[in-house]
Amino acid sequence: MTFDDQEYLRRYPFIDRILISSEEIQLRVRELGNEISRAYQGSSPIFVCILKGAYPFLADLTRCVSVDHEVDFMAVSSYEGGTQSTGVVKIEKDLKGNITGRDVILVEDIIDTGLTIAHLMELLGTRNPRSIRVATLLDKKPARIKNVELHYVGFEIPKEFVIGYGLDYDEKYRNLPFIGIMKA
Ligand code: 5GP
Repeated sequence: MTFDDQEYLRRYPFIDRILISSEEIQLRVRELGNEISRAYQGSSPIFVCILKGAYPFLADLTRCVSVDHEVDFMAVSSYEGGTQSTGVVKIEKDLKGNITGRDVILVEDIIDTGLTIAHLMELLGTRNPRSIRVATLLDKKPARIKNVELHYVGFEIPKEFVIGYGLDYDEKYRNLPFIGIMKA
């Protein structure tokens, strides 16, 4: 845990504990960046950041990628069915560029039920990219409803509600440099 992490804990007493420290995140993101750089030699992939939660991950990850690449952004919202995501996603903001024939890497903050990413892969698949892969910082595997192949995973986490590093609670706390768990 860095001094910064500790400082945030002091400032935000409602955070119960840090699940993944900022140091651990930065180390792992560097590893993923290296892995992606090796896998995409000779290609010029498009990183598609799924807003809002994936923006810190996209920024840190792409700074560790050594092959030429582009970034684009998509914003989606899930239609809620009770307390759980239904997997029917509404496109709030679509891609600016054309992905036909391109290698696409979808960048997500967290895969929970898997419904959102499954829907997005199906949708983007109809635009005939050369390939689509998923890079997610967190994989909440015990919550999975829809099985999706995740190519680049930062950390597997238990079925708990997490905040920080892009992940919000009521639109706040995305700025925290670590992944934390709030007090019940
Ligand atoms: P899925 O369709 O995989 O269930 O939903 C993924 C989306 O749900 C994520 O992009 C994120 O916005 C939200 N989500 C899932 N788990 C958490 C969590 O623990 N914390 C926060 N802040 N958002 C979550």
